[in-house]
Amino acid sequence: MTRPIMARIDRNALAHNVRVLCQAAPTSRLWAVIKANAYGHGVDHVFSALEQAHGIAMLDLEEALRCRELGWKKPLLLLEGFFSADDLALARQHQLSVVIHDAAQLDIWQAHPPLANQAPLSVYLKLNSGMNRLGFAPPALDDAYSRLRELDGMGDITLMTHFASADEPAGITDALQCFDACFARLRKNHPDAPPLSQSLCNSAGLLAHPQAHRDWVRTGIALYGSSPFQNRPANELDLRPVMHLSSQLIGTQSLQAGERVGYGGIFTATEPLKIGIVACGYADGYPRHAPTGTPVVVAGQRTRLLGRVSMDMLAVDLSGIAGAGVGSSVTLWGAEGLSVDEVAQAAGTIGYELLCALAPRVPTQVC
Ligand SMILES: *Cc1c(COP(=O)(O)O)cnc(C)c1O
Repeated sequence: MTRPIMARIDRNALAHNVRVLCQAAPTSRLWAVIKANAYGHGVDHVFSALEQAHGIAMLDLEEALRCRELGWKKPLLLLEGFFSADDLALARQHQLSVVIHDAAQLDIWQAHPPLANQAPLSVYLKLNSGMNRLGFAPPALDDAYSRLRELDGMGDITLMTHFASADEPAGITDALQCFDACFARLRKNHPDAPPLSQSLCNSAGLLAHPQAHRDWVRTGIALYGSSPFQNRPANELDLRPVMHLSSQLIGTQSLQAGERVGYGGIFTATEPLKIGIVACGYADGYPRHAPTGTPVVVAGQRTRLLGRVSMDMLAVDLSGIAGAGVGSSVTLWGAEGLSVDEVAQAAGTIGYELLCALAPRVPTQVC
């Protein structure tokens, strides 16, 4: 018998989320972000549910080429652009839009102009609006834009930025002001330049800051049915979970008061206690730092994790779950009202990390 753990990928839920997000930004076009193997869901598994998106964005060239192979004719965007002249050549060959966030990329482009028969490439020029990760600082933006416009094979240009706190009370006011001022300055200093599109929002920006929707939004996490906000559950945003991680009980133990559970014995029973052993551990992507009390659903009933998560197993409390035994169904997240965000919160992390960490050894089933 195969180990009973399984990740089910619900494409209808994903297609639903795409619709919800498109409706939430009705005047913008939507980049569906599939970096990190579609946030752990598998590019091949999610691809057919992305039809309604206007473009697909990723970091890895391989993921972009896979989308072309699968028949995607609409735009593809490399969110960190190209890392070498070889990447740039492939981007041109496969018509991948590229982010340009550093002068080093302008140097590569200048040193490697396109072949005569190659179509121009769309470029996303990235502004650092305060996050201080990737992008040109405001004083360097004008020069970068001027250089960009003089390069051979330059297509249309979009000014983009990425918010550091679109999901937090601090909000986007300063970053948006910075972006708008930079945009206005570019237009003023280049009055004869062709139109310049704008792209600012990730999922949190899209859902919380409509004033920043502009031409293109870029959504990742919300597509997969996880909330970008600490205090707004995904179901309240009408988002449906796409990954359902399930398993079964493969053993049970009956403890006396004072007996302990798992490595280090960090949980001690205070009264007689029946526990179940679930075929799921940190080698499957379940967070090892999830503490006692983290919610788990067993045989349709909510219960709690006990003790330390091991590599291949974890223990759960079977108190009050009548009839639970070997073979009983277990939901780790995604189904039966247990969101990945709840598990993530209990484990001191975010849904993103849990979804992306799903281990390759977990069999996936697409429905
Ligand atoms: C990952 C990423 C996104 C999507 O972010 P979510 O919070 O998952 O919606 C958008 N823009 C850029 C540049 C990214 O790297």
